[in-house]
Amino acid sequence: MKPPLIPVPHHISYKSGALRLERRMRIIVPAEAPARVTEVAGILRDGLREEAGIEASIGPGGKGGPKGTIRLALAAGPGAEDPEAYTLKVGSSVEITASDPRGLLWGVQTLLQSTQVSGSAATVPKGTISDSPSRPWRGLMLDSVRSFLDLDFVRRTIRVMSACKLNVLHLHLIDDQAWRFETKAFPKCNRPGEPFYTQAELRELVAFAARYGVEIVPEFDVPGHSMTAVNAYPELDCERRPRKMDEAIFCSGRPFTWEFIDRVVGEAADVFPSAYIHLGADEPYAIKRWADCPDCRARMKQNGVTSLEALYHTFVNDLDDLVRRHGKKLIVWSDAIHPGVAPMPPQDILIDAWVDFGTVGPLAELGYTMLNSSNGPLYLTSFGLREGLPLAAVEAWNATKFPSPGAELGDQVLAYKTLSANAHILGGHASAWATEQLLTERRLYPRLLAVAENLWSEDRAGDAAEFEARYRAGFAARLRRMGVPDDEAAPMERPFASADGAAVAVGETGPGWAVSERSYRDFRLTFELRAPAPGHHTGVIIRCAPGGGAGTEPKGFPIVAAAPPGLVMSGGLRLAEGWDRFEVVARGPIVSLTINGGLAWSVVDPTPRAGPIVLQSTGKGWQIREVRVQPLDGAK
Ligand SMILES: [Zn+2]
Repeated sequence: MKPPLIPVPHHISYKSGALRLERRMRIIVPAEAPARVTEVAGILRDGLREEAGIEASIGPGGKGGPKGTIRLALAAGPGAEDPEAYTLKVGSSVEITASDPRGLLWGVQTLLQSTQVSGSAATVPKGTISDSPSRPWRGLMLDSVRSFLDLDFVRRTIRVMSACKLNVLHLHLIDDQAWRFETKAFPKCNRPGEPFYTQAELRELVAFAARYGVEIVPEFDVPGHSMTAVNAYPELDCERRPRKMDEAIFCSGRPFTWEFIDRVVGEAADVFPSAYIHLGADEPYAIKRWADCPDCRARMKQNGVTSLEALYHTFVNDLDDLVRRHGKKLIVWSDAIHPGVAPMPPQDILIDAWVDFGTVGPLAELGYTMLNSSNGPLYLTSFGLREGLPLAAVEAWNATKFPSPGAELGDQVLAYKTLSANAHILGGHASAWATEQLLTERRLYPRLLAVAENLWSEDRAGDAAEFEARYRAGFAARLRRMGVPDDEAAPMERPFASADGAAVAVGETGPGWAVSERSYRDFRLTFELRAPAPGHHTGVIIRCAPGGGAGTEPKGFPIVAAAPPGLVMSGGLRLAEGWDRFEVVARGPIVSLTINGGLAWSVVDPTPRAGPIVLQSTGKGWQIREVRVQPLDGAK
């Protein structure tokens, strides 16, 4: 039987028969090979143990491996100009060759997926696979801000990425809600009681990822999505004031802004060896404030610009100069660039294109190099797209395709448009926004593997059903062996035991809202919501209500009005017709969540408030039903 490989290699030529791998075998690394080749051999040894119970030893050897051995060799050959290309030959022994250790690692991953175990026998089909990626940038973005992701989880995800030949982990570290990067120059960004990664932890993570062939690219959002920084250092604000969610923006003109960014980028550059740094630059919602600020107006005058969009470009240009001084290349989200507005940012910055064809097409025309991270279909979790689009929509995507128009909740398929062949597309990445850690993997797999496949083998034939069959036959079990929970075998939800008096939140206690009977921690809330008419945006507010009694408007914590540390909000969800189902997870002490439509994330709040959870509809004609609160695994 042919191994169910993901991603499918470009060229496979199987012969009849299979090589049986012995229980104790040798992996041969040429004596002159660089240390990295021995490290790659170590990944193979660990994988053989994990996948097939084989105990392999690593040792030096010359040309041509003896029977039954696996030899890793660096060699120029066809496709050698691509450092990620490899050839895997299986005859009486196994040989993996590549011009670079990067290619050897991908050959090792293909060999591990090719190893089929039946009883005590492990075999690999004979033949030759020669392979190389369609795109050099194959990524995943993890959002550690809205919901802190622990390092074990991130390491596990890196291992899965490596197994499917994804090579860039884009780590979203800074946003309105929290600041997850230990910042020595500005320690107030790391708020007491809120988890963050120390620089030492991140250095270790970078090294771990590098071992698995994955590069970590950090993202720090400026000048918007900056509530944490602005509230910690209000002198970053035009009026030197703390701000609410979505209302924070760095002053463009004050020297302190640039000193702040410079020192943060300096620390990041020291921790992350990647050639790139992502500085966000998306959604500067509060940019109007720049028009009334003396410092921003002075900057406008100095740069000879008259519009806010042009002023924004000068900001992006200065970001570009700044990161170059730190030896890095700048990445920004695509909405940082306004075609036709001088001064245009230089074309050699990398555009992370998260929107639809209508926006991305003009950027491609202008000659920018891009990553395709279009929210349709690559937002695999949360935000407006809730659980993301179905596997078939992901299957139909590749790095040249953007939806037209954009993706919306409820879309089953997307109408894709293809960028011209002249467009510079480095690759792409899926995004896991705002998702509670326990939910992330349920959302990611197997769709992330389909993204990986389409970035590696862009012109692959086959449909979603064929892909899913291959996934079930191979990678699904591999995920379990790597420690990814099997949600189908063991659902995470357990209803509250009614014996201990814990209650499921039910019943109407006011027009359109329900109150649970007790307070909870580590819970999953599900409910169904119906808008008065299709096409509505925004949904519900959920808040903790200290002493909020039944039958009265709860005097809960008004989270929209006063944003505490740890607050999260979302907007912009278009509701479908009829009932929409929502799921929210909170971890740790109960915290207020605002949900303007189907967001599944959690917050750890340093000042937990006791009291029941209130689920309240936001307007006339909104209806809620099927409200359930369930503990997460391990919750008491
Ligand atoms: Zn200003």
